[in-house]
Amino acid sequence: MKLGQSVHKLTLETINKMKKYYQHFLQDPPQGSVFRAKTKNAVITAYKSGKVLFQGASPEAEAGKWMNKQQVPKSQQKVTSQKTSLYTPPLTLFNNSHIGSDEAGTGDYFGPITVACTYVKKEQIAALSELGVKDSKNLSDEQIRKLSKEIIKSRLPYSLLVLRNEKYNKLQKKGWSQGKMKAMLHHHAIKNLQQKINNQPLKGILIDQFCEPSLYKKYISSEKESLSAKTYFITKAESYSLAVAAGSIIARASFLNEMDKLSKKIGVPLQKGASYLVDQTIANIIKKRGKQVLHTCAKTHFANTNKAKKYL
Ligand code: MN
Repeated sequence: MKLGQSVHKLTLETINKMKKYYQHFLQDPPQGSVFRAKTKNAVITAYKSGKVLFQGASPEAEAGKWMNKQQVPKSQQKVTSQKTSLYTPPLTLFNNSHIGSDEAGTGDYFGPITVACTYVKKEQIAALSELGVKDSKNLSDEQIRKLSKEIIKSRLPYSLLVLRNEKYNKLQKKGWSQGKMKAMLHHHAIKNLQQKINNQPLKGILIDQFCEPSLYKKYISSEKESLSAKTYFITKAESYSLAVAAGSIIARASFLNEMDKLSKKIGVPLQKGASYLVDQTIANIIKKRGKQVLHTCAKTHFANTNKAKKYL
C-alpha cells in the first residue's frame, strides 16, 4: 500500500494547462486555489502562488506529468511502503476531517516531552497547507515558532500536554518506560480534544507511530484506558496528515519555549539533543548549581548523566 503527498512550485502557464488537462476531473476549488482535481492517483490542488499540492495513492505519478520531463527529486518524494494492519489509516483519512497527534522532546536530554494533537476539518486542509503547515522536520526553529502561533491564531482546535522533568523522572523511577509516558500523553491529549470538538465530523484519529499499536494498547490499558474507535497509526504520519503536521509544529514550538524558560531558570543555555555538548553542559550545571537541579530540567536516566562525569 502506498500513500503520500508532494508539493511543487509550477508556473502559472503550467497550472493553466493542468486545469485544461484535468477539466473532466475538476472539483469545487478551495479558497485561494486556481483549481482542484481528483484522479485515481491523487487529489491535485493548485494555488495562485504557483504551489501545487498532490495528495493520495501515487502523488508523484501525477506530479511527474508536469515536471518538464525532469524526474521528481527523491528528496521531495514522501512516499513510503509500509506494512498494513488493522491500524493502518485508510487513504481517505488524510483528505477528510480527522485528529492528528505527534510529540517532541523524547530524544532530548534537557527539557520536557510535549504532545499536541489538532482537529482538522476537511474544508480546512487546503488552507492549512497554504499557511505553510508541513512536515516539521523540514522547518527551522524560527519557522516552527511562527507557524505554531499562526495555527493557534487560526483557532484550529488543539490540545497540548507538557510532561515536565520532575514528573517525568518520578514516573521513570516508578518503572514507566518512555513509551508508556508517550502513549498516556497522546491518549489524554486526544481525549481532551475529543471533548472540545464534541460531535463534529470525525473520520478517525491518527497517531504518529512510535511503537507497535498492540504495545500502545497495552500501555494505556495498564492505566485502565482504552483506544478510541477509528484510531490509526503510521510512521512519518506528519508527511501524510496535515493534522499530525500541525500537532507536530505546536508540540515542537512548545518544547522550544519550555527550553527557553528552563535555560533562564537554570542560568545556563540548554542544548537540544543528547550529544557530547550536552554532557559538557551537564558538568557545567553540576559545578554551578549542584546535581539536584538536573531533576528539574533533564531526563536524568539518559546515559548523558554518567558521561558528564568526565568533564567534572
Ligand atoms: Mn513523531
